[in-house]
Amino acid sequence: TEGMNAQDLAKLLHRPSAEIIKKLFMLGVMINQNQSLDKDTIELLATDYGIEAKEKVEVDVSDIDKMFEEEQHNTAHLVKRPPVVTVMGHVDHGKTTLLDKLRHSHVTEHEAGGITQEIGAYQVHYNDNLITFLDTPGHAAFTEMRARGANITDITVLVVAADDGVMPQTVEAIHHAQAAKTPIIVAVNKIDKPGANPDRVTEELAKYNLIPEDWGGDTIFVKISAKFGKNLHELLDMILLQSEMMELTANPDQNAAGSVVEARLDQGRGSVATVLVQQGTLHVGDPIVVGNTFGRVRTMTNENGRRIKAATPATPVEITGLNEVPEAGDRFVVFDDEKTARVAGEERAKRAQDKERQRTSHVTLDNLFATM
Ligand code: GDP
Ligand code: MG
Repeated sequence: TEGMNAQDLAKLLHRPSAEIIKKLFMLGVMINQNQSLDKDTIELLATDYGIEAKEKVEVDVSDIDKMFEEEQHNTAHLVKRPPVVTVMGHVDHGKTTLLDKLRHSHVTEHEAGGITQEIGAYQVHYNDNLITFLDTPGHAAFTEMRARGANITDITVLVVAADDGVMPQTVEAIHHAQAAKTPIIVAVNKIDKPGANPDRVTEELAKYNLIPEDWGGDTIFVKISAKFGKNLHELLDMILLQSEMMELTANPDQNAAGSVVEARLDQGRGSVATVLVQQGTLHVGDPIVVGNTFGRVRTMTNENGRRIKAATPATPVEITGLNEVPEAGDRFVVFDDEKTARVAGEERAKRAQDKERQRTSHVTLDNLFATM
């Protein structure tokens, strides 16, 4: 605690140093303005100015980001898992059309015709493989997670309309994917249109280091028509090829960990969150901490509205049973018992509240000490 004197403190509190010295004098502490203050004195003074002290948490069960990382690096019993794919691109270039087409032409056999509910993510069953697609709201989660240095996407499919070329949001998507070190597969869309010029798209993308193999680069390009379903199998083949190269694995035999794709408050069901399981297997009844909230997985529903009991890595599911509504990009971790999950969840909620308060009152004892 050496180093901070009345003058430094005065600056931090936006008060004249004479006032600080006077106040301390009134509190029975006699100092000159260059004399360094001990922690107790600073605390005394801070309290006098109405700045509250905060206690440090000893056992950190609430550090679910760290727990999440640990689960991610758990290398026991690794098995192959499906790739998680985000479709990005400029508005109107055909993202939704592509996702819809893929979904409706490749729903799993037993679910055919049973599409009753739309969630922000779904899986496509193709040639004995599963591919997980994050829908447009996944866009938000993608951005949010990147901002936190995490990432749920393995592969980005960049949709570029052949009649429009590279546009601002195309460039934005490229930057997101490149910053997250996510491989990009370029889907040159709308090749059915009379004004389509796929070569121009290729030329424009070279500027961003996206160069197809036949031009000497290593980026996969697929020319498609989302609207007419042309070359979509080729696109899925390329996604699987890319995912093979990445050797994506996870351990299904552990407590689940993953991320929130989207969440909302439902009138009847309460907090409803679409989550992506990234490690382990999520079960109905699991005690869970999600972002700053917690609960027990009450129900779990797949993208077709079917109730399921367990969800393995790369499976998106909608869960209910959380106390509050989490945010897109929040991590979740399953705990062994409900009590610990509750402690962790409540601690996280409290800390989030404190942080919010801190933002509004810009000086706290914590950041006073942090400057010493
Ligand atoms: P998003 O904003 O990227 O999700 O784009 P949409 O999927 O909503 O598509 C925008 C418009 O382009 C819609 O009118 C689609 O029907 C049309 N569209 C999408 N893909 C194709 C395509 O392959 N060919 C043609 N001709 N139109 C397409
Ligand atoms: Mg759309």
